[in-house]
Amino acid sequence: MNNPKRYLITAALPYANGPVHIGHLAGCYLPADIYVRYLRAQKRDVKFIGGSDEHGVPITIRAMKEGITPQQVVDRYHSIIKESMLQMGISFDIYSRTSNKVHHDTASDFFKKLYDDGVFEEKETEQYFDEKSNTFLADRYIVGTCPVCNNDKAYGDQCEKCGSSLSPEQLINPKSALSDVPLVKKKTTHWYFPLQNYEAWLKEWIIEGHKEWKNNVYGQCKSWLDSGLQSRAMTRDSNWGIKVPLPNADGKVLYVWFDAPIGYISATKELTNQWADYWCKEDTKLVHFIGKDNIVFHCIIFPAMLKAHGNFILPDNVPANEFLNIEGEKVSTSRNWAVWVNEYIKDFEGCEDVLRYVLCANAPETKDNDFTWKDFQDRNNSELVSIFGNFVNRAWVLMHKLCGGKVPKLHEDVLDERDKALMKDIQQSALNTQHLIEEYKFRDALFEVIDLSRKGNKYMQEKEPWIVVKQLTTDPLAQKSIDNCLHLCLQLTANLSILINPFLPTIAKKMCGMMKVVDRMLDWENAGKIDLLKVGYSLRQPQLLFRKIEDEEITKQIEKLKNNLVKPIMSEQVSNEVENSKSEITFDDFAKIDLKIGTIVAAEKVEKADKLLKLQVDLGTEIRTIVSGIALHFSAEDIVGKQVTVVTNLAPRKMRGIESNGMILMAEDKLGKLYFVSPTTVIDNGSGVS
Ligand SMILES: [Zn+2]
Repeated sequence: MNNPKRYLITAALPYANGPVHIGHLAGCYLPADIYVRYLRAQKRDVKFIGGSDEHGVPITIRAMKEGITPQQVVDRYHSIIKESMLQMGISFDIYSRTSNKVHHDTASDFFKKLYDDGVFEEKETEQYFDEKSNTFLADRYIVGTCPVCNNDKAYGDQCEKCGSSLSPEQLINPKSALSDVPLVKKKTTHWYFPLQNYEAWLKEWIIEGHKEWKNNVYGQCKSWLDSGLQSRAMTRDSNWGIKVPLPNADGKVLYVWFDAPIGYISATKELTNQWADYWCKEDTKLVHFIGKDNIVFHCIIFPAMLKAHGNFILPDNVPANEFLNIEGEKVSTSRNWAVWVNEYIKDFEGCEDVLRYVLCANAPETKDNDFTWKDFQDRNNSELVSIFGNFVNRAWVLMHKLCGGKVPKLHEDVLDERDKALMKDIQQSALNTQHLIEEYKFRDALFEVIDLSRKGNKYMQEKEPWIVVKQLTTDPLAQKSIDNCLHLCLQLTANLSILINPFLPTIAKKMCGMMKVVDRMLDWENAGKIDLLKVGYSLRQPQLLFRKIEDEEITKQIEKLKNNLVKPIMSEQVSNEVENSKSEITFDDFAKIDLKIGTIVAAEKVEKADKLLKLQVDLGTEIRTIVSGIALHFSAEDIVGKQVTVVTNLAPRKMRGIESNGMILMAEDKLGKLYFVSPTTVIDNGSGVS
């Protein structure tokens, strides 16, 4: 769209079921933020919309497991996510949430309009029901044996062992992942959106009308459309979500993927009374930033819903990114193979822009990409510190040393070819950066800026003002040459601050501080100009823009990642974060428990029991057999020799035919990872614990 009057930029609503990791940032929040900051610097009319997606089955299941309400789950994660976004400089105009009333009303009205217009098909089907927890189960919560590879832990939507895509009907012996009970089928009525009725229109709109969309997006849409669309249920059986606004629809809510994208509209309503200008006027440019797993919802289903509704504009572009892997492996939140944004902010205080830099430089714009801590360190140390930071710092130090801390004159009469070339480079880089950002090529745009600072370094190296200064007494042109060099280096710095601002806003602000200029200088109309800093203007002392990242910091992060790794546990993926507080006991009650230190001297897996290990524990005066449910966390060979704390007077218990005489104490962290409770140094077996 040429010359839109206003921009409406959305970033996928993160699911309020856990904190955000760096893959989320790289996938859509950072690119959206870069684009929005650029548009603001262009003084365009732009609204940046975000919020938490707070409905859907995983939230109710998590609440059930933790013994809290779904509202408590979403309250917790909404605030963690919101805080992380803020700290990373993701500059939403509003960060809302789908549990807000305005959203319930908006989504409800949207559904009602489609219903009244006769859009939906009403169908009764049979679905799997868990009688113990009294819920219909989503595919992910049905487990059974994979018909392809016989893996007995396959999910209703996929077998993670062989990768087959499955439906619950294909599973052998389907069971509930919640309660382990066999499932029954029950009849239920739902409202289906007939996507097939919009197929022809979608083909024309996307395949013919949006050939400029990114290849990964266009390609996925094309393959969906080529394989034919079908009706999809837009309601679910649940008590958590937006009630279906129809009579006789008790216990039914809107499908989370029906309500979530409408959340963009609700949040805009919350933000401004002029919301309809942004959503209903054809001269608004709507852009959805998302990750590749959301392409079908944002390019096919939501546009079809908007089309069916009739009052809203359609997205102009949906620049989805692919996935960011971590150290060569796919991110897995259930295994805790992820770099969490809230933890990064704690570990690298003041380095938020460094993460923004690395995630943009490494963005999975066209294919899946890999984040490694080593690359993070390299990019910081050899690009930010050695190229960009080094150029700015040298320019400042030399200006203070050779020009008395003031912007020197530009002597037009002695400009040489190198000076002229640098002036041209500044203008050209500003144009290139602009074009690349407008084409959603943020990586290339960022490299363009770094490259400009590289050219600055090279220029300074060739002009050698620190050598020229020695010729002041012999060469009448020496001072002019120094002045020109530093004048241009300072103007280049001013340009760098404008161009880097959408990517590294905190650094740009710091640079403004050094130049003693107001933020208005960062307006994009100034990009490419070489008279931004006035002659004679005195500038502050340099501050270091970036610090070096040391090897130890990187080693620590890699260890942390590996130590945090949780092995997948069936139906226990969601861990207990809320401590169950127990009732008070007397000292005498406590004294009844006999605790001793022992050493595991042998360990073996118990046959046909995934979770159990049979241990022999040396308690000084005897060796006890203890069966412990830790096999998913520890392998037998790794724990032999470990000292542990044992409850020795627990009544014997038979497990899988083995008598267990005691219990090993374990600590469990919030992610469900287990740790032995051990003395800090090796002590005699049989030592008492009290
Ligand atoms: Zn399989």
